[in-house]
Amino acid sequence: MEDCLFCKIMKGEIPTKTIYEDDIAKIFMDINPITNGHLLIVPKKHQENVLDIEEDFIVYALKITREKIFPLLKEKLNCDGLTITENNFYGQDIKHFHIHLIPRYKNDEYKEISNEDLLEDTDTIYKKLTEK
Ligand code: 5GP
Ligand code: ZN
Repeated sequence: MEDCLFCKIMKGEIPTKTIYEDDIAKIFMDINPITNGHLLIVPKKHQENVLDIEEDFIVYALKITREKIFPLLKEKLNCDGLTITENNFYGQDIKHFHIHLIPRYKNDEYKEISNEDLLEDTDTIYKKLTEK
């Protein structure tokens, strides 16, 4: 897609520090890493988000993560865990689907977002989610 940064990266028009590449995807280092070894898995074909990504791509991404990438991160960077995230619409800067692989370390400062001020009680939310 024209004017899509990740399409340009997929075509090799913008260089990246690529860890793995095949016909389906490129896995490269995030330019602004949250932890050491923060990677992005990006499909070659332009798709935008969770609503249009091919299911087969998700299966592929899971397979390659557990067979190749997580073992690599453990072996080379000695990470203690792996957080996998993916943003859609709000919170998504690049509108070309990508999965974040964020290696975790026992001493890292990565924090889950806390939203205490905005939280309603769980019963209220459960009711909203389940009432017909
Ligand atoms: P999002 O907010 O869309 O989930 O994440 C986009 C990610 O792409 C961010 O973590 C950002 O650092 C990364 N990013 C943005 N532009 C570039 C770039 O030109 N090269 C690389 N390697 N990563 C990028
Ligand atoms: Zn694109």
